[in-house]
Amino acid sequence: MKKISLVIPMYNEEAMVSLLLDTINEKVVKPLEGRYQFEIIAINDGSKDKTLDLLKEEQNKNKNLTIVVLSRNWGQEAAVRAGLMTATGDAVIPMDADLQDPPEIIEQMIEMWEQGYEVVNAVRVSRKKDSGFKRNSAGIFYRYLNKISPKIKIPYNVNNFRLLDRRVVDEVNSLGESNRVLRVQIPFVGFKTGAIEIVRCKRARGESHYPLKAMVKLAKDSIVSVSVKPLEISLRITILFACLFCLSSIAELTLYILKLCNILSLDNLTLWSWLIINIILCVATLISGVLSIQSLYIGKAVEEASHRPSVIIKEVIKK
Ligand code: UDP
Ligand code: MG
Repeated sequence: MKKISLVIPMYNEEAMVSLLLDTINEKVVKPLEGRYQFEIIAINDGSKDKTLDLLKEEQNKNKNLTIVVLSRNWGQEAAVRAGLMTATGDAVIPMDADLQDPPEIIEQMIEMWEQGYEVVNAVRVSRKKDSGFKRNSAGIFYRYLNKISPKIKIPYNVNNFRLLDRRVVDEVNSLGESNRVLRVQIPFVGFKTGAIEIVRCKRARGESHYPLKAMVKLAKDSIVSVSVKPLEISLRITILFACLFCLSSIAELTLYILKLCNILSLDNLTLWSWLIINIILCVATLISGVLSIQSLYIGKAVEEASHRPSVIIKEVIKK
């Protein structure tokens, strides 16, 4: 019988543990019983609440449950990665613990997988439940991401909730980089991809752990892992503005010489100086922007060169 692994990262999800596992049992495991074997991999991402204790209790009732304990809080991406490394299924489905990803879709995902799709994305048809800020910033961000990565199409409105065939999981696991963003890595490895439309629900219980800081980090990691194009553009801009900077310095010097020779009146000179100072300020601002893009990539290069692991699994608890 084919095995399906569900990979669920959990950080401070004590309010969700039993509701989540009961819902998965009701909506996924029972309807497909006898046709598929299930493995549920819950990753405790350094939770400070009772998530781990509750998972251990649930394991006494649920023999399909595997608990992966991380050495500390590593963040959602790393937690999913630990799950992908542990999963043994023929297909693997990462999903959030808060039931925002509707589990009833999983049956359809499996049907598409059986038809030959190696990746089945759950595409959100509407993000109405997200805040206006999150919706708009995501829209602009994905458009930009796809511009800088013409060969890799990163689908808008797809998070980590997707079905991945064993081949895809093995390829993703074998990618050697330490800065990993799954939503970039999956389109990067390729394979036959299908989609199912879903309406993403509100978090069932508990609180979101995605402050603006974490969103900015994910965005930053996605950009540097998708393409080095911004770096190339930033280098071109640096060269262009370095030339402009030189020209404006030459212009300023010329004006002073003209003033010294009494060819230019003082009023004119004030106007010109003001203009030049403004140009210099603009150039300085743009150069700082360019330098920050370059430092993003230098940061990534340092991370990769240090060969640090992307996640550390402390313990895998199985029954
Ligand atoms: N999560 C995690 N580690 C973290 C933050 C979040 O494993 O440091 C998990 C969390 O428990 C949930 C999933 O990642 O299963 C998505 O997080 P959340 O629902 O808080 O994010 P949002 O849906 O608000 O973007
Ligand atoms: Mg959520």
